[in-house]
Amino acid sequence: MKKAEPKITILEALSATGLRSIRYAKEIPYATNIIANDLSEQAVETIKHNIEHNQVSRIIETSHDDACMLMYKHKHPSKRFAAIDLDPYGCPSIFLDSAVQSIQDGGLLLVTATDMAVLAGNSPETCYCKYGAVSLKTKCCHEMALRIMLQCIEQHANRYSRYIVPILSISADFYIRVFVKIYSGAVHCKKTTSKLSMVYHCTGCDNLTLQPLGGLKPNPSEKNPNQMKAYLPAAPPIGEYCTNCNQRHHLGGPIWSAPIHDESFVSRVLTYVEENSQLFGTAKRIEGVLSMVREELNDVPLYYTIDKLFGRVHLQTMPMLIMRSAIINAGYKVSYSHASKMSVKTNAPPQLMWDIIRTWEKTHPIKQSKLVSDPVTKHILSQDIKNNVDLSVNELANPLSRRDGRLRFQINPAPFWGPGSRAAVNIGDDKMSKSVKNQNKNRKKENNVKRKHSDTSDDDSRKKVDMELKHNE
Ligand SMILES: [Zn+2]
Repeated sequence: MKKAEPKITILEALSATGLRSIRYAKEIPYATNIIANDLSEQAVETIKHNIEHNQVSRIIETSHDDACMLMYKHKHPSKRFAAIDLDPYGCPSIFLDSAVQSIQDGGLLLVTATDMAVLAGNSPETCYCKYGAVSLKTKCCHEMALRIMLQCIEQHANRYSRYIVPILSISADFYIRVFVKIYSGAVHCKKTTSKLSMVYHCTGCDNLTLQPLGGLKPNPSEKNPNQMKAYLPAAPPIGEYCTNCNQRHHLGGPIWSAPIHDESFVSRVLTYVEENSQLFGTAKRIEGVLSMVREELNDVPLYYTIDKLFGRVHLQTMPMLIMRSAIINAGYKVSYSHASKMSVKTNAPPQLMWDIIRTWEKTHPIKQSKLVSDPVTKHILSQDIKNNVDLSVNELANPLSRRDGRLRFQINPAPFWGPGSRAAVNIGDDKMSKSVKNQNKNRKKENNVKRKHSDTSDDDSRKKVDMELKHNE
């Protein structure tokens, strides 16, 4: 007897033009049914037209419905999807409650978020409302955004005794996209707190310290020798003042602090893309990003950025190769994050990182005037070096992806490339955002003369809200 073909159903909940559904139909060999849904009647007409044009009407059906209502109609296990793709403009969190319920066990949920300003710490209070976590303005904000997104999906899934297993989490251009598998199991949901952490962020030197919400310890019984038991970890993990710079902390999170990629999945995708590069227009870029993802230290959440570390104490930035060598020479692990070419992801303690900087300062001394004007820098640099720091080049410090000459970090193809609207203006403090912010600067000035204070950035208006709150206290 012939074995029945597996039924693979995919939902593109916010389809717009149907482009992605059409790609799924053409590129995924086993997909049996794809639903391209949109709330707009006009969009559905466009999708129909595109489906016919691409001759994929055999596989794709259109749906004109509210995305959440459509997903709720597929809650029953017999109707669940193998994969759901959520790619809204901005924040996806309103779709998560229905999405986590309408995916098969072991099915795939793909979620995009483009509201990077909120996720990257420009508006922590808004981030809490949308994602249930306080974002922080740090140099590793892109990975932080991924981890906030993951904890948000996990929280929604846990309500229905389901849980996530992230297989790939990507920060690219001006958005993030996570790929997670969804499983059922109340017992596994008890492990969630051990995968989440609050984040202490030092306001002086940017040190990040994680406080796990829970832990797991062995609790063997005769029947179940591998049994684990949840416990509450001791808190806080830090003193009132930072041991490095003597400043206080902000508290953000919770974030997902467990691995954000599945190494074997990433390797399989990478091999497939390498062997079939003719299928993908952006094969070089996919290979570059995935080979970096594969090298990331999976058990070390977040990262430093080398320019920020040295900038904090007004020093000339050390070459990346020397920094990575010094960490390896001290017996610790180091990797890049795919999210930043300045990133230093390491399991080395902060004390070693700052000892490396203090050692560098001995041969690349700070200007006296900077030392006088910045007491925090003075405090950091005046501390004793407690580790043996070896700055000689270690050949292991050059990552394979770099030695292979991979296209690791994409350069924006054109100035002002990407969603040049509100979202880009508030991302971190990089050049892109400044240039967007300064577009039509003079015309804005003229307008300001006519209507004063009306042209404030989001950041300014937030400051104003803060001020008002203080007045009301
Ligand atoms: Zn500090």
